[in-house]
Amino acid sequence: MARFYPSNIKIAIVGAGPCGIYCAIHILDEFKKNNFKNFTLDIFDKSQVLRTILPTGNGRCNITNSIDDIKDFAKNYPRGEKFLYSLFYKHSNFDSIDFFNSIGIETTVEPDGRVFPKSQNSKDVKDKLLNKLKSYDKANLINKKINSKDDILDYDKIIVCAGSRGTKQLIESFSHTCIDFKKALCGLKIENSSIFPKGVSVKSLDGDFIFTNEGVSGPLIFKISSLNAYKNFPYDIEIKLFQADDLIKLVEKYPKKSISNLISNFIPKSLAKAIVANDDKNACEVSKEKLNLYSKLKLKVLSSASCGEIVNAGGVLLDELDKNCKSKLNDNLWFCGEILNIDGFCGGFNLQNCWSCGYVVAKDVVSSIIKK
Ligand SMILES: Cc1cc2nc3c(=O)[nH]c(=O)nc-3n(C[C@H](O)[C@H](O)[C@H](O)COP(=O)(O)OP(=O)(O)OC[C@H]3O[C@@H](n4cnc5c(N)ncnc54)[C@H](O)[C@@H]3O)c2cc1C
Repeated sequence: MARFYPSNIKIAIVGAGPCGIYCAIHILDEFKKNNFKNFTLDIFDKSQVLRTILPTGNGRCNITNSIDDIKDFAKNYPRGEKFLYSLFYKHSNFDSIDFFNSIGIETTVEPDGRVFPKSQNSKDVKDKLLNKLKSYDKANLINKKINSKDDILDYDKIIVCAGSRGTKQLIESFSHTCIDFKKALCGLKIENSSIFPKGVSVKSLDGDFIFTNEGVSGPLIFKISSLNAYKNFPYDIEIKLFQADDLIKLVEKYPKKSISNLISNFIPKSLAKAIVANDDKNACEVSKEKLNLYSKLKLKVLSSASCGEIVNAGGVLLDELDKNCKSKLNDNLWFCGEILNIDGFCGGFNLQNCWSCGYVVAKDVVSSIIKK
């Protein structure tokens, strides 16, 4: 079939983070497969290329998750779930794992489903992605901040994947709506944090968490912060520590033991003591109502803290994009990655958003150039 190959196509990618580089590699790959050479690909970044991948997964890079049902996978995004369905159908977590394997990154799956490079080193992921990009010898990495669309007016195709830090003005310069950015997946500062034992980890019925200097952190708290990203501070949360009925059974068996002693069968002793505080007494003297109260931890959240993965909820309004992340307002403009109003829980979901939409955008950009 005859193909139409235009000449001198200029493509700009704004942001050389995980999404921008993944997208660039797949654009170059498609061009190579089609033997299309008449283009310029400029990748702008105000900072260092792939700098943001280094701290991921505490330096281990939780690349993705091994959940195998696309709908179940998408449930891990408090914002963006439905929009992601079609992106995941076009490029799933397993497609991304195949890609990483193909560039020399072997992967390993943890019992909870999180996928990491076997090297357990995010620098390895950075280096292999960059090597792959450079192997095409066609991308120009340019150290420059793009402030608005006016800085890249002379490009034929523009892909904006500049993340969610300080990019509201950039989004709005393209006349797109930016949903306010709010911190998610972060620790939380709580009222009266001084009464709780610092550094103590708790396995609650709702999930694991830890007391920090200023409040609480850990997987459960990240999830709570994410679900409440748009709530105004202060707000109340309740964590189910253990089954009240199990405590009641223990009280019936050991009525003369102190209540803090019995509670410490379920949670660390220091937390049991903090919860009971000055009200420690023989278990048989404690009302059923009070036993019930002890099984739940009620906390007042004052603000977010600076620990955690900290992705941002908010970004480009998804209604203004088609299913390939292409702008409905501007021809030849795409947005992808964390700049979108999409964010996931901990577990590799935020990077998978980058891989899936980076790939889909790459395909769409190429098919807008090479008409088959
Ligand atoms: C500590 C930490 C740990 C994390 N760990 C994980 C994990 O293990 N697994 C996971 O799935 N997710 C993790 N995340 C989330 C994940 O890192 C992000 O979702 C992901 O990096 C988003 O990629 P992106 O390319 O869309 O944006 P970014 O990574 O933010 O990259 C955007 C790039 O654009 C550049 N840029 C920004 N504005 C401009 C501009 N105006 N002009 C030019 N360049 C610009 C920036 O310098 C940056 O290089 C973690 C996040 C943090 C903070």
